[in-house]
Amino acid sequence: MPALLVVLVLLASGCAPGGSRSDGIPTADAPFTLTAFDVGQGDAFLLRADGATVLVDTGEPDADVVRLLRSEGVERLDALIITHAHLDHVGGAPDVLASLPVGVVWMHPVPAVDDVVPEYARTLEEARRRGVPVRGPPAGARVAIGALHLDVLGPPPGRPYAWTGSERNNTSIVVRASVDGAGSVLLAGEVEREAQADLLASRADALRVDVLVVPHHGSRTSDPAFLAATRARTAVLSVGAGNRHGHPHAETLTALERAGMRLHRTDRDGTVRIAVRHG
Ligand SMILES: [Zn+2]
Repeated sequence: MPALLVVLVLLASGCAPGGSRSDGIPTADAPFTLTAFDVGQGDAFLLRADGATVLVDTGEPDADVVRLLRSEGVERLDALIITHAHLDHVGGAPDVLASLPVGVVWMHPVPAVDDVVPEYARTLEEARRRGVPVRGPPAGARVAIGALHLDVLGPPPGRPYAWTGSERNNTSIVVRASVDGAGSVLLAGEVEREAQADLLASRADALRVDVLVVPHHGSRTSDPAFLAATRARTAVLSVGAGNRHGHPHAETLTALERAGMRLHRTDRDGTVRIAVRHG
């Protein structure tokens, strides 16, 4: 029987950071929170648990994710995870490294540096300058940071998606983040159908979560079967208002609704804070 999920969503407007409440449950007291920053086109998700402050992606450079982090009271990161080297994910990373102490960076090397944004190299450079280790944990790794467990589900080793025409998206780092007694979140960067098919085939059990961060800003590149397999009750979409890609695509929204998920979108809701609990 699926665990009963209680999810609390607090919208940014009119809410004091971390101290807001709805249904009597303040996010500040929740054992595990997910904040989806409103960074326009891009992703920047903050995971917080006892002894763990982790940022997954950093938006574009002008999103000023450092300011957003400070507005949440974040002065250091235990880990910075860059799912893949596209500008709207790695763009703010050099600034984060230059501005805040960071324990470790997770980022996989890109096969063809020529066509990658300069922020990728600048991220490596800033990390090196500040003595921050850069690692690419392999699929199957389980890392504990405080109360937070990070299960790395992808990408597989090698270059299995070189043929897809969207290798960088498909080789996004895929992480299942969970806190015992609280809940779980799936963050999958921009994996598309090819990587999603492999995850479904190899790690279907691990895909089950309470909260799904919808891959690729709700693009139609997601397989409805993958979205449904998460059995999430809540879906979060980081979407730029009026973005030129047409995200989120209608068919993906329909798939999420058919799977019974409650949707939250940064383009409409602004920064979204979620306290995840299952009972
Ligand atoms: Zn993106």
